[in-house]
Amino acid sequence: MPDNKQEVLKKYFGYDAFRPQQADIIDTVMADKDCLVLMPTGGGKSVCFQIPAILRNGLTIVISPLIALMKDQVEALRSNGINAAFLNSSLSSSEQDQVMWQAKVGELKLLYIAPERLFSGNTFEFLKDWNVSLFAIDESHCISSWGHDFRPEYRQLNTLKLRFPNVPVIALTATADRVTRRDILKQLNIENAEIFVASFDRPNLSLTVLPGRKRLQQIQSFINKHDSQPGIIYCLSRKGTETVAASLQSAGFKADFYHAGLAPEKRSRVQEQFLKDDIQIIVATIAFGMGIDKSNVRWVIHYNLPSNVESFYQEIGRAGRDGSPSDTVLFYSYLDIITRQDMINNSDQSAEQKELLHAKLNRMKQYAEADICRRRILLSYFNEAVDKDCGNCDVCQNPRTRFDATIIAQKALSGIARTNQKVAMGMLIDILRGSRNRNVLHYGYEQLPTFGVGTELRGEEWAEYISQLLNSGAMDIAYDEAHAFKLNPVSRQILKGERKVELVKFIPLAERKAREEEL
Ligand code: ADP
Ligand code: ZN
Repeated sequence: MPDNKQEVLKKYFGYDAFRPQQADIIDTVMADKDCLVLMPTGGGKSVCFQIPAILRNGLTIVISPLIALMKDQVEALRSNGINAAFLNSSLSSSEQDQVMWQAKVGELKLLYIAPERLFSGNTFEFLKDWNVSLFAIDESHCISSWGHDFRPEYRQLNTLKLRFPNVPVIALTATADRVTRRDILKQLNIENAEIFVASFDRPNLSLTVLPGRKRLQQIQSFINKHDSQPGIIYCLSRKGTETVAASLQSAGFKADFYHAGLAPEKRSRVQEQFLKDDIQIIVATIAFGMGIDKSNVRWVIHYNLPSNVESFYQEIGRAGRDGSPSDTVLFYSYLDIITRQDMINNSDQSAEQKELLHAKLNRMKQYAEADICRRRILLSYFNEAVDKDCGNCDVCQNPRTRFDATIIAQKALSGIARTNQKVAMGMLIDILRGSRNRNVLHYGYEQLPTFGVGTELRGEEWAEYISQLLNSGAMDIAYDEAHAFKLNPVSRQILKGERKVELVKFIPLAERKAREEEL
């Protein structure tokens, strides 16, 4: 067996070089340290735990929520000569017994298992006899209720570190903002883990938002410009996918629909046809895409507004995996927001959870309504600082009017600083505009030097400019602290006068609407 990571990469995976971060992550795991890996989909997370699994003595337990994908992953490993297996409900009980036996006698290097399976029966008790050398937690954002895909069964993973304090844990995810990251570490009891964040930038994806009127007509002319290139249209509802697919079919396109209500055979047939380019266009709900490995998807259209930036980013990320230029379009109208808001309000979530969902939806709204480079907004959501505009989004291509807003930014940021980073939008605006309301007086904020320094702007102008500041990464927001604004290194540069800020001139909604009608 090869004894170093480079040889393993070549021998088992056939690659000559590591991608950025992969080698450091593997070294960290090999040094028995816990780590959290953030990499976009397709970034190459798997080898970060598969290579240590091969190199370490003993068994690596891989926690994964997607039973449907385990089989493929295990087969891929086996075909590369690595002893791997999975345990889930798709196996008969004698097959499961056999896998457990292999784990016990040390025949396996990797064992994939869903959390609910790990904690059912006696499996967790058996672990201590299996010489476990590493825990890899895939899709680890599922452990956090701050993430967009919380799965309660992930919560039990908090016992891993307590029961196996000497076994390193590597948590991996493609989507986690700063709050979710912190929560993952806390929930897994690996607060001293090293954190690796790969760039989330996908410069080959163009970003466009179109007004949400006559969507079908706009889609047809878009597809005509993307002559026979494969693409995905995401719709909110199952019914929607069927209607859109039918109208494309009757216009002569090779399109079909896909949603979780279809029989499994029909689903795998549609998926297969798309992979083989027999169908050009898939019209789908979010049920489509997890684990679909088609590298030449040339465009993704969102017929409706997604519920949050993480999902949106994951969905557009299915385009252009081969690195070639690909286009993404989001249709947006004010009604999409209302629909989403109603869905949240009518759901049976707790009040706290609803508030979080509203906040996440609001970030999606900010992307849709942005007057600054849309890629900046996406990347700042993942806490990535960006130095220049991308040139590959509709805003970059049709710039809005900007003005020097350094003083406005400094006023807002010093309001945040003077209140010890405890205030959210409403209170900050009250302070800046010098409103002596009960809340302001209760906290004694009328005593602050920043009180009333922003009377030259109306409340709605402040709201717009503060949103722009947030979008451009000039500050952060803490969802877990009542959406209080937080200063970051960029904020401090602005406050010290080391960085200029330009914002887009505020256009009242009424005027903006009129402008959209002209398009
Ligand atoms: P993720 O789990 O982050 O979505 P994967 O681990 O599935 O991504 O990797 C995505 C693709 O990149 C796979 O086809 C994988 O084989 C490939 N890959 C991973 N590491 C390398 C590398 N160092 N060089 C070339 N290709 C790589
Ligand atoms: Zn841009």
